[in-house]
Amino acid sequence: MAARPTPYLDELNPAQRAAVEAMDGPVLMLAGAGTGKTKALTSRIVHMLMTGRARPPEILAVTFTNKAAREMKERVARMLGQPIEGMPWLGTFHSICVKLLRRHAELVGLKSNFTILDTDDQLRLLKQLVQAAGIDDKRWPARQLAGIIDDWKNRAITPERVPTADAGAYNHKAPRLYAEYQTRLRELNAVDFGDLLLHMVTIFQQHPDVLEQYQRWFRFILVDEYQDTNVAQYLWLRLLASAHKNICCVGDDDQSIYGWRGAEVGNILRFEKDFPGAHVVRLEQNYRSTPHILAAASGVIRGNSDRLGKELWTEAQDGEKVRLIGHWDGEEEARWIGEEIEAIQRGTRGMRPYTLDDMAILVRASHQMRAFEDRFLTIGLPYKVIGGPRFYERLEIRDAMAYFRLVVSPDDDLAFERIVNTPKRGLGDKAQQTIQRIARANGVSLVDGAALAVEMGEIKGKGAKALAQLVTDLARWRRMTRAVVPVQSDDIIDDETRPMEGSPEVSHIELAQIILDESGYTEMWQNDKTPEAPGRLENLKELVKALESFENLQGFLEHVALIMDNDKGDEGAKVSIMTLHAAKGLEFPVVFLPGWEDGLFPSQRSMDESGLKGLEEERRLAYVGITRAEEVCTISFAGNRRIFGQWQSALPSRFIDELPEEHVEVLTPPGLYGGGYGAAGMGGGMSGGMSSGVEARAAEANVYNSPGWKRLQERSQQRPISQPRESRASAIDLEAVSSFTMGERVFHQKFGYGAIIGIEGDKLEVAFEKAGTKKVVARFLSASDD
Ligand code: ATP
Ligand code: MG
Repeated sequence: MAARPTPYLDELNPAQRAAVEAMDGPVLMLAGAGTGKTKALTSRIVHMLMTGRARPPEILAVTFTNKAAREMKERVARMLGQPIEGMPWLGTFHSICVKLLRRHAELVGLKSNFTILDTDDQLRLLKQLVQAAGIDDKRWPARQLAGIIDDWKNRAITPERVPTADAGAYNHKAPRLYAEYQTRLRELNAVDFGDLLLHMVTIFQQHPDVLEQYQRWFRFILVDEYQDTNVAQYLWLRLLASAHKNICCVGDDDQSIYGWRGAEVGNILRFEKDFPGAHVVRLEQNYRSTPHILAAASGVIRGNSDRLGKELWTEAQDGEKVRLIGHWDGEEEARWIGEEIEAIQRGTRGMRPYTLDDMAILVRASHQMRAFEDRFLTIGLPYKVIGGPRFYERLEIRDAMAYFRLVVSPDDDLAFERIVNTPKRGLGDKAQQTIQRIARANGVSLVDGAALAVEMGEIKGKGAKALAQLVTDLARWRRMTRAVVPVQSDDIIDDETRPMEGSPEVSHIELAQIILDESGYTEMWQNDKTPEAPGRLENLKELVKALESFENLQGFLEHVALIMDNDKGDEGAKVSIMTLHAAKGLEFPVVFLPGWEDGLFPSQRSMDESGLKGLEEERRLAYVGITRAEEVCTISFAGNRRIFGQWQSALPSRFIDELPEEHVEVLTPPGLYGGGYGAAGMGGGMSGGMSSGVEARAAEANVYNSPGWKRLQERSQQRPISQPRESRASAIDLEAVSSFTMGERVFHQKFGYGAIIGIEGDKLEVAFEKAGTKKVVARFLSASDD
């Protein structure tokens, strides 16, 4: 080892240090939350660089989110005490695979400038295939097919290898449609998310020379959050590591929360089999949370039967108990949390003062965020939403992006379909069908088909002129972009460092503005008189602004396709709002966990499911939530929630009952109830203690007769049994019901848009925006796309 100082090793305990210093051979670090797994992993990277065992590009390090990757890079640089020349292969599975696939796209029949489809495009494409096959997509929603295909891709199953056990899926049509879908994607020069891994696994399996090249290149492999890898990711890792076996995986079976996306916690258990003689490290000291928080988390996770079982300890001081508070409704919960955040910030809660950056609100479902966003906007409390591609989901943003995509990748037919008549160019269904027909007959993309249609005089009237204009514009804009250089497969130098062919006439930022203006898209919204139009124009400006941090349009499009964070570049302290899923691996001194109600958390779907699998995953999510907190953890629930103007009562979450009493303090909200701020005593059972606050509020509102109130009271006397419900409804209907969650926005063919406010056997109660509240059969509903 080089005689360099190694202060980063002194910060580790002996078990961590062993994991860092064991550089050769497989290492598995299996340990609970906050025990320093990620820290050890990061130190290992630093150690490899410091001792000269590896150069930055030889290290393949996989994190679960882009945010985690960014943080890890920063930490490595800080520990090294000097800036590193990049870590090109530190990122998420998807971001790494997209880079690799661009180098080898031709091996799976793609071009290196392929487009990454988002779920919306994916669905539109599937819908077309389903309709073309003459399938009634009301009865057999394309969304269901999308789920089946995703699941196969997560399991690394290509169309040729669909197992017979799965052949009956989607009325026996799924295997064929899957094959057609893959063919269509190839024609479009596009991939979906699942393809990024699937194609790389296929390439590695079919081209041993390519695999060997990367086995030699990636001399050290590190994986964080290993418990959440799916089969495709697992195979990909195993292929890369099989030659040198220098692979270090860290994980925690109690934090496996992506089972619904095909993650297999069994991959952890399989590790020792795949890599015999693996050095297995167990860590038990938690450095993150106070004993009360740790004990509360342990109390909840103990309810799961299917676990390896680990006990955690800490040297930290006792600190605050986990705080628990019940509210009358969701709005009040948001109001209270807003006030509480301000009070904690001022230091008037008898705790040390905290900044807004120290605080986070972690929700179960993203629709819970709205109440907080609204409230915080009203009181001027700075916040940021982390982990949601919400901005990029907006209509005007998606339209603008479709223009950009088409300029970067002219084969992107889906993008063409989206914008050909947006703004209106007098190109209705008939004209579009003509373009489709000509493109298909000539085996070309829609853009080229459109050019042909114009040339051949197949499109008449004012549409013809507009279409000709669009085709020339697209070609012109494309000439203004930097040429995309095809990548040689034997070369591993990062794309960004390559010289570009051709010189750009304008910057990509100017180009984006030109595209939006010259296409008439900006003008379309300027002429629009609806109240949303000004906001949409603002968003378009925001979009062009976002381009500044990218080198070119393609890089930007890629980023958006992979985006998990939208919190970049803002100065000033802010409260973070995110889902529990997005909070994995993170930590905050002060954490709020709102919405702990049965039906919301655990989700209705997990409660209705037969078997306890779903419920156990929800419980792990609760464990993840509590263990994000370092010093102050506040859990809350509301007795009633208003969803699209309809009131829905709820029971406190069964997980609240599982919190060990001696580590919990029940709060009553200040002022409002005349109770003053402070502990209300535990009463009998966790939820029973809740009554005093809610009771006073209930009395005030004279709502003793509301069902929500009655159920709250019942709940305080008897603990419900967490067993799956019996039902006489048919299996198919139940399956349909369980694919929905409370509060979810849905679409019904006859009644239009609405939100789910109740679930009863095989029926769903839906508050429709126009048609009022109705009970409908789940089969006739689809999840809303907007
Ligand atoms: P999770 O399972 O939630 O991802 P983790 O096991 O990855 O948690 P880290 O995030 O690495 O845990 O560490 C948790 C906290 O403990 C961090 O603030 C980290 O800096 C600190 N920490 C880790 N190891 C030590 C140590 N040996 N001494 C002091 N602090 C440590
Ligand atoms: Mg971690």
